Amino acid sequence: MALLKTTMDIFKLLEGSNCRECGEKACLAFAAGVFKGKRQLAECPRLDQRIVEKYTGNTQKAQSVEEDMADMVTALKEKIKTIDLSEAAVRVGGQFSGDRLTFRILGKEFAVDSNGSFYSDIHINPWLMIPVLHYIVNGRGTPLSGKWAPFRELKNGMVRNPLFERKSEAPLKRLADDYTDFFKDLLELFNGRQVDNLFEADISIVLYFLPLMPMLICYWKPDDGMESSLHLFFDATATDNLHIDSLYTLIVGFAHMFEKIAARHAVR
Ligand code: SF4
Repeated sequence: MALLKTTMDIFKLLEGSNCRECGEKACLAFAAGVFKGKRQLAECPRLDQRIVEKYTGNTQKAQSVEEDMADMVTALKEKIKTIDLSEAAVRVGGQFSGDRLTFRILGKEFAVDSNGSFYSDIHINPWLMIPVLHYIVNGRGTPLSGKWAPFRELKNGMVRNPLFERKSEAPLKRLADDYTDFFKDLLELFNGRQVDNLFEADISIVLYFLPLMPMLICYWKPDDGMESSLHLFFDATATDNLHIDSLYTLIVGFAHMFEKIAARHAVR
């Protein structure tokens, strides 16, 4: 039975005359109303009765972002069942033993078995789970180059960069400004490793999200009338091992987690 999955699917069934007999200003508005469940197809007097009967009740409900993410996790877990985890372990920088691929996420142990079941010391949210599963399934295993690059210079990074800066670098900078010592402690709690004098930053810490996915956080305190700044850098090979969309999800989710922790525990 045919499903109407989008507003456009419904719109294509309509006459397109914008006659307004249904009370809407245009067919597209009527289609949107049907998709949201506020209108019924039968309320368009110009629609053939056979079409009304064929499609009534067949509008697929719009999914929430959470439902979309849950579906994606399920699909990726199914994919995990089809891959050779011992090969994947070599490719992604993990170990394979006893039917489990194991590696560390931000210093905490994570394992997945051939049924797609997880075992972890870290709380696994969808923002973390989806990139981790993509990394296992699709990562190419390109060795680290040792060259740091900002998000915008990664493959396809330029398009997402404005949102990336707004959703990750900006909130992390606010935290570093407001709670500098707490921010540094928190990075170290997630196994961040201080590296000296990198870009002459006051704080320069490397976090390993995944074995082949380090991120360098550099924070410069305000100085001599200059504003503070914070920038994130990735290995130049990052998008070989994790698609830019997954990298975006991972880092934005991480920034959001830091904001939540700071709201609960930070003392200025
Ligand atoms: S009555 Fe039907 S054809 Fe007319 S505007 Fe509404 S949806 Fe379009």
